[in-house]
Amino acid sequence: MAEPIAIVGGGIGGLSAAIHLAAAGERVIVFEQNAQVGGKMSELRAEGFRWDTGPSVITMPHVFEALFAAAGKRMADYLTLLPAEPLTRYFYRDGTVLDATRDLPRMIAQIEQIERRDVEGYLAYLAYAARLHRITGEVFIYDTPPTPASLFKVPLRDALRVDAMRSMDAAIRSFVRSPHLRQLLGRFATYVGASPYRAPATLNVIGHVELNGGVYYPRGGVYAIARAMARLATELGVEIRTSCAVERILVKNRRVSGVQVGGERMSAKAVVANVDVATVYEKLLPAEAVNAARLRRLLRAEPSCSGYVLLLSVQGAHERLAHHNVFFTDDYRAEFADIFERGVTPSDPTVYVAITSKSDPEDAPAGMENWFVLVNAPALSERYDWTRDAPRYRDRVLAALAKFGIVPHIRAEYQLTPADIARLTGARRGALYGTSSNTPLAAFLRPHNRARDVRGLYFAGGTAHPGGGVPMVTLSGGVAARLLLADLGKRAQVPTQA
Ligand SMILES: Cc1cc2nc3c(=O)[nH]c(=O)nc-3n(C[C@H](O)[C@H](O)[C@H](O)COP(=O)(O)OP(=O)(O)OC[C@H]3O[C@@H](n4cnc5c(N)ncnc54)[C@H](O)[C@@H]3O)c2cc1C
Repeated sequence: MAEPIAIVGGGIGGLSAAIHLAAAGERVIVFEQNAQVGGKMSELRAEGFRWDTGPSVITMPHVFEALFAAAGKRMADYLTLLPAEPLTRYFYRDGTVLDATRDLPRMIAQIEQIERRDVEGYLAYLAYAARLHRITGEVFIYDTPPTPASLFKVPLRDALRVDAMRSMDAAIRSFVRSPHLRQLLGRFATYVGASPYRAPATLNVIGHVELNGGVYYPRGGVYAIARAMARLATELGVEIRTSCAVERILVKNRRVSGVQVGGERMSAKAVVANVDVATVYEKLLPAEAVNAARLRRLLRAEPSCSGYVLLLSVQGAHERLAHHNVFFTDDYRAEFADIFERGVTPSDPTVYVAITSKSDPEDAPAGMENWFVLVNAPALSERYDWTRDAPRYRDRVLAALAKFGIVPHIRAEYQLTPADIARLTGARRGALYGTSSNTPLAAFLRPHNRARDVRGLYFAGGTAHPGGGVPMVTLSGGVAARLLLADLGKRAQVPTQA
């Protein structure tokens, strides 16, 4: 039998790489330490309720379509992505409620109520964000990591408009005056775990992805994406071994030779690590194969933020709420200063509530709702002790909701702290999106999908290029597979820009 390619981790990046490799005729084995695949994308079922416990906002449907197409399949036969409307319902402390929508006349009518002069600014922002997507897509998102050569492909006129030298917030301020709209547009920084006051304005590209491209809800829950990918991988012949942690990545003469699982050595012609890159260097590779300076750099890199999650069984139907809801703090700057400068939980957090039972009534018993409550939290550090402080943060989150008159009648609850996220998925310091995107150089410093010091080792996932978030890690798996196949002298079909 042909020597296999071993994939360490059955998260979305690992599954995506497995699909591309198997579609190119390779023998692939995925090793996943947990009892189920999906990694940060996971679900919990209890007493008639179902919650997605990780991602809840799915964007860029073309990325998933391209993945299935790369394997010669139609996504519609595996997965249904339903457009969400409104995209998100935003609640502000002064009583303003705004439904972000792709329906432009409706969006404009709402902006007119808040600040008439911002209508033009908002439309100009949408065009600006779409331009950022056009300019940056090929170099930073959809292809192999940026190099000086790939940057030279960008026409000078466009390169000057990448807008990396001011913050997201500074750019947003140049388009709109209303503090409400500024906060709404700045929130997209959190989609990569960054701060709008520090992240480069280039990341306003996320505004394009959501406001022009839309938000989608997979029928059956976000976890349906992991399930669909695992099914496709299995059909392509991928062997998925769950409850199977890789203990070591074996290296001989600076080349990967296999993996060690359950004390047994298994040879592999290549390894794709879906695990946090820093963890691979720190814990899975033999010390003599690791470049010490690279390891130090990886361990020193600022992580993206983490999150604190409450899963609530809630009595009654809350008509004021949509599927996706955001309850804003009135001091957004202080929230990010708490997270990134002080390394503590925000004293007055913005609260996100997703209720999938609004779209999928089977997710909760009749007359009840399944609330997924997420608030930003700092990455794990010695400055915050979750075992001691989680109950206090839980009360603060519910108190923040109460400021909007939202006092849910909770029948049962579960929580996930950053420490739980780190333990369950191997995320270093519990970071949701790998290293932070808070500097203009972040896209260049992010680890490459092909390891530099060990031949035959590749990275797919949120800590490698092009970064975190479900569509991005799906692309990451495609890029890792493409590089690996190229090294084997083969070609792969890789998702391209829609
Ligand atoms: C609470 C939360 C909310 C989020 N919200 C969103 C959102 O709304 N939209 C969005 O797009 N993204 C969101 N994200 C981010 C998104 O979930 C991640 O970027 C993405 O799922 C990461 O996928 P990945 O492939 O990089 O790896 P992971 O999901 O981290 O998977 C890595 C896998 O490797 C396994 N593993 C680790 N070590 C080993 C080992 N030694 N042997 C075998 N297996 C191992 C782990 O168990 C895990 O299954 C959210 C994440 C969280 C936690």
